[in-house]
Amino acid sequence: MLVRIERIVITGGGLAGLRTAAELRAREYAGPITMVGAEPHPPYDRPPLSKKLMLGEVDSTSMADDAAGLDLDLRLGETATGLDDGLLRTDRGEIPFSALVIATGAAPIRLPGPGPQHVLRTIDDALAIRSALRPGTRLAIVGAGWIGAELATVAVARGGLVTVLEAAQAPAAAALGTAVGGLLAPWYPAAGVDLRLGQPVESVQPGGLALPGGGWLDADLVVTAVGVRPCTGWLAGSGVRLAAGHRDAVQVDAQLRTSVPGVYAAGDCAAFWSGRYGQRLRVEHWDTALHAPRVAAANLLGAAEEYDPVPYFWSEQFGHMVQFAGHPGKSDQVVQRGDASGQRWALGWFRGEPAVTAGADGIKVGQLTAILTVSQPRDLLQGRRVMEAGRPVDTGLFADPSMAVRDTVAG
Ligand code: FAD
Repeated sequence: MLVRIERIVITGGGLAGLRTAAELRAREYAGPITMVGAEPHPPYDRPPLSKKLMLGEVDSTSMADDAAGLDLDLRLGETATGLDDGLLRTDRGEIPFSALVIATGAAPIRLPGPGPQHVLRTIDDALAIRSALRPGTRLAIVGAGWIGAELATVAVARGGLVTVLEAAQAPAAAALGTAVGGLLAPWYPAAGVDLRLGQPVESVQPGGLALPGGGWLDADLVVTAVGVRPCTGWLAGSGVRLAAGHRDAVQVDAQLRTSVPGVYAAGDCAAFWSGRYGQRLRVEHWDTALHAPRVAAANLLGAAEEYDPVPYFWSEQFGHMVQFAGHPGKSDQVVQRGDASGQRWALGWFRGEPAVTAGADGIKVGQLTAILTVSQPRDLLQGRRVMEAGRPVDTGLFADPSMAVRDTVAG
């Protein structure tokens, strides 16, 4: 059933915004679509910014061609500032809407201090870092998460002298936990990167970083990569509920509806209710920005679909293709597949006691909640399918890397 819509407004001209517009057109919505994007650029892809673009292999990641065929009223360099009963306020005026999709993404967190500090979110950020990075540049990266690791990878390849400072005891600890994140730590020194774990940074100063207790690190170039916050400040007073436990992301239900009728949200700015995991999730990854808009667009036009994926992301670092799918619980048990000091390995998280039990025949069966693969894309694909189907897994077989993941399904 098609709902009568006069004008659809999309705030944010990133992947989620673009995909929303494309999905609306694919569903034969022929009415006006206005896209308000704060950046001066037409939509572009972000993952290559820390990879091919940083390496100098490409200079643009534009998706302008995709946008061109969608008959959009594309308002670049215009920022949404407020929302009020069918009216979007921007820094240039007001736009009435009958339905709105919030896709304003997220922006990097910065450290205190008066020193020059780069972040890596936009193409302008990436080009600025790339041009400042020369052979012999002393680069300090704050944060050993995905972006920090990818930038370190490219920076050493370009001849930079790279130090990564991480407050946690392991890289990617927020996503993987300390024990699993620790398996990635040897990649840094092997690539010639000075990784300093358990090292918080106090502030960015001219010429370097101030460390707690009077410590200091000289740096020619500082890039802060300590995470992002959803761009939702402009929604204050709008009635759109934000999720306090998710850095004030827009709170949406399983159908991606906000607390205001006719207003939806998707991508990095949103925290959606997942029936699969029985909790709210904020997934700041490309796959979510790609697929959630299909559901938002369908529902906006009258459907009642749910977005309930097994979340997925990838990262390319230190010569490894790292892929992750799922959502592990804190007490889940980790089962290793292959030697983590090798080039190709994987591991799975299994729901903790009492779900992992010794069956009558002594077989340990568990529910796979997440899988991490290193240059093993087939394991990732099969593991994701097993999780989507909710099939129990024989953890003993899973631990054998010669077994295909799909063949470890029990019963
Ligand atoms: P965004 O891409 O952030 O787009 C939101 C847009 O809205 C921005 O242009 C912003 O300027 C605009 N905006 C904000 N506020 C307003 C406002 N008030 N009014 C109007 N416009 C506004 N994910 C992976 O899974 N794998 C990867 O390898 C990977 N690599 C990445 C590398 C980099 C360098 C970065 C930055 C991200 C990477 N990601 C990766 C994450 C992925 O790119 C994001 O999850 C995805 O871009 C989110 O899309 P989005 O449209 O929700 O938000």
